Amino acid sequence: MDFNDAPEEAAFRAEARAWLEANAQAVPTGGLGENAEAVADEKRWQALKADAGWACLTWPEEYGGRAASPMQNVIWNEEESKYKASVNIFSIGQGMLGPTLMVHGTEEQKQRYLRPMLRGEEIWSQLFSEPGAGSDIAGLRTHCVRDGDDWITNGQKIWTSGAHYSDWGILVARTDPNVVKHAGLSYFIVDMKAPGIEIRPIKQIDGGSGFNEVFFNDVRIPDSSRVGEINDGWRCVITTLMNERSSLGMSLGGLGIDDLIELARETRWDGSAAIDDASVRRRLADYYIRLKGVQYTSYRSLTALSRGATPGPEGSIGKLVSAPLRQEMASFAVDLLGEAGVLRGDASAARGAWQSAYLGAPGIRLAGGTDEILRNIVAERVLGLPPEMRADKGMAFKEIPTGSL
Ligand SMILES: Cc1cc2nc3c(=O)[nH]c(=O)nc-3n(C[C@H](O)[C@H](O)[C@H](O)COP(=O)(O)OP(=O)(O)OC[C@H]3O[C@@H](n4cnc5c(N)ncnc54)[C@H](O)[C@@H]3O)c2cc1C
Repeated sequence: MDFNDAPEEAAFRAEARAWLEANAQAVPTGGLGENAEAVADEKRWQALKADAGWACLTWPEEYGGRAASPMQNVIWNEEESKYKASVNIFSIGQGMLGPTLMVHGTEEQKQRYLRPMLRGEEIWSQLFSEPGAGSDIAGLRTHCVRDGDDWITNGQKIWTSGAHYSDWGILVARTDPNVVKHAGLSYFIVDMKAPGIEIRPIKQIDGGSGFNEVFFNDVRIPDSSRVGEINDGWRCVITTLMNERSSLGMSLGGLGIDDLIELARETRWDGSAAIDDASVRRRLADYYIRLKGVQYTSYRSLTALSRGATPGPEGSIGKLVSAPLRQEMASFAVDLLGEAGVLRGDASAARGAWQSAYLGAPGIRLAGGTDEILRNIVAERVLGLPPEMRADKGMAFKEIPTGSL
């Protein structure tokens, strides 16, 4: 494993740094895309990047990318993250749905949707999870019935991030209940403003509303908005999930171990700095060592990318280890703050950033694959352990005894 940039990687990093330095004043200052102002800031930054050739680097040139290598993309993300800590509201479209359209979409769909997606002119959401289908997506119950050139859709999605500011959504729905659950699904592009779609925000523990319930009441979707073949939507779902960023667990709202050490230096306990306490230093050292373990494990992926190879199972391991670790760190930070740990807003330490990280951490452990599902992946695909029992294997969806369609 070589920790240094190769000469061409160093040159690319210097080019990225120079552009970011020259344009840093335009970087959005924060927010989770939950208000119109934050969304407008993000759109401005995305358009600026697109005009300068720094948007969707790995995309082919014909769709506005620069056909960059995955390693160059990693370098860009590292450099951009030094300036920008806010959530990327375009990541679901650009990181997951765009690549799916490139593989499974018609030429017309690619020409219509990919460029506005890259420029941040149109925002996308992912309509996969349902109240009874999260880890087991193939068990979903939202269904579409053919009516001439349209499909009529009924059902409910949940946890749809950004549905309230999205223009388009990718919907997976059941189009045939008579076959095994994976085989009867289709994949559609949906206009989020279409009649019959109702979006209800979900109030989160941190006071925000980043995700939503989305109800479909006789929503008409033209067949020309179907991606892939009828009843072959599972193939598209797999492409989307493979592109889901395994880096979800790495983020703690822009906070890292250096910020935690700083907090321990600044916090006063009985007249002295908290970091003077041996038990605090022990905890900090423990977090530091575990984070280094995650970091060096992720370098294995980077080395593979740098050599043009496909990364191995480190992706699942990275989220599985780092999401609980960062939850522990945020919890420790809130403990360090003592009574002030219950305060949020501008008057609190770091404007309540640690409190936000603490309250958001359980969601990070669920989104993009729960801890248990990631353990199953590691057990079955890395360690080669026997697969878990699947009671509905080979059974037509409509015969699975959990209710009727
Ligand atoms: C912040 C956030 C953003 C999200 N954004 C989106 C989005 O934009 N679009 C979208 O479609 N979804 C989104 N989700 C939903 C997310 O994909 C699901 O929460 C996740 O897949 C888990 O599904 P579930 O919540 O239905 O839990 P379930 O699948 O019902 O799981 C409940 C519990 O059972 C465990 N479990 C389930 N199956 C197994 C098994 N086979 N073996 C062992 N244990 C198991 C799980 O680990 C979990 O602890 C988001 C979630 C979060 C937290």
